[in-house]
Amino acid sequence: MSANAEIQKVAENPFDSMMSRFDIAAKILNLDAGLYNVLKSPAKQVIVSLPVTMDDGRIEVFEGFRVVHNINLGPAKGGIRYSMDVHLDEVKALAAWMTWKCAVSNIPFGGGKGGIKCDPRSMSAGEVERLTRAYTRAMIDVFGPEKDIPAPDMGTGPREMAWLMDQYSKLVGYSSPAVVTGKPLVMGGSKGRVEATGRGVMVATRSAMLKMGLNPFKSTCAVQGFGNVGSISAKLIEQQGLKILAISDVTGGYYNPNGINVDEAIAYSKANKGQLDGFPGAEKITNEQLLELDVDVLVPAAMEDQITKHNAARIKAKLIVEGANGPVSASADDILHEKGIMVVPDILANAGGVTVSYFEWVQNRLGYFWTEERVNRRADRNMKESFEQVYQASLQHNCSMRIAAYVVAIDKVAQVTLLRGGI
Ligand code: GLU
Repeated sequence: MSANAEIQKVAENPFDSMMSRFDIAAKILNLDAGLYNVLKSPAKQVIVSLPVTMDDGRIEVFEGFRVVHNINLGPAKGGIRYSMDVHLDEVKALAAWMTWKCAVSNIPFGGGKGGIKCDPRSMSAGEVERLTRAYTRAMIDVFGPEKDIPAPDMGTGPREMAWLMDQYSKLVGYSSPAVVTGKPLVMGGSKGRVEATGRGVMVATRSAMLKMGLNPFKSTCAVQGFGNVGSISAKLIEQQGLKILAISDVTGGYYNPNGINVDEAIAYSKANKGQLDGFPGAEKITNEQLLELDVDVLVPAAMEDQITKHNAARIKAKLIVEGANGPVSASADDILHEKGIMVVPDILANAGGVTVSYFEWVQNRLGYFWTEERVNRRADRNMKESFEQVYQASLQHNCSMRIAAYVVAIDKVAQVTLLRGGI
């Protein structure tokens, strides 16, 4: 059994994972029982069947989802995931996380998430395009620049966002770039968007290290996952002076005690169909071994439920910065907290992506585009401020950074819900 299958076996329900944190934060806030029910319930859950003609002439029907969790702070915002693991409970959890993520980051958006159960790697570009257009048609009443604004997530990128923008624009009869973010630069994407999540992970890592008194030039790091988030996080963290001892992707882990040259790894993966398989200059380890390495900083940037009660006690890192959504399951929270490990939670650590998505939406609506320097400066400032806000809340309530982030987010959404009234 591969390391990934091993990890999958112990995966926990992501919605339950979200709710158990929500419950602790709600208690700290003394949240009214009625408001509790409002905030935990997704506002809208849409499931669609998407018939697509495959290249060989067969018709296949795919299942697509979009969940809008909450729109009190603004239009729903969140990515679309293409993966065989997509299911409603996962999309519901991811949508709720987007609500909390936008609230923690002071972004005027609610939370949503979408997904299609498919294996994009086994599909041709034409098949993925037809699927993306079918999904957009099915969601025409859900999406909209003032309603629900999708973006990339696992298995999707600028290419899919371009098709979505085009299909939506054709259906409404005018060009509507602000309906989706993470578009290619030439068609209204924002400078800095591709790097934004990894950049935010790096800024969150630096902020946490500063609080912990860790010297970047004497610190080591392991990064799980080498997609957009993992590879860019690794590269930017390396630029801060840390030695990257290990990286990994679906093909396994790659370890070098003297430090991995991340630029070389990125170039290798690019030239090798996006995979690190056979990467020279590193010893092969498993994804599980990577998580348990004796490093200062661990960045899980692959997928959900990688650190659970089954391996949490063996984690040696002093600091975990969650590049992925939900990589630490709720069952591991207490174990890590008791070990004194600081965890910068997903809804804070990986918010750089949605922050620059917000900037992209702003630029699309203004019809005026910012320099990369302005995008990065504003995104970095936002991350530092959000980090500080959550850090102060963790001191005030004597709780972990994760619970503090939920407290900050839930408090904000609860306040706005009450102010808006109408319930
Ligand atoms: N999919 C990313 C996330 O989970 C980005 C969402 C967005 O930009 O709207 O945060």
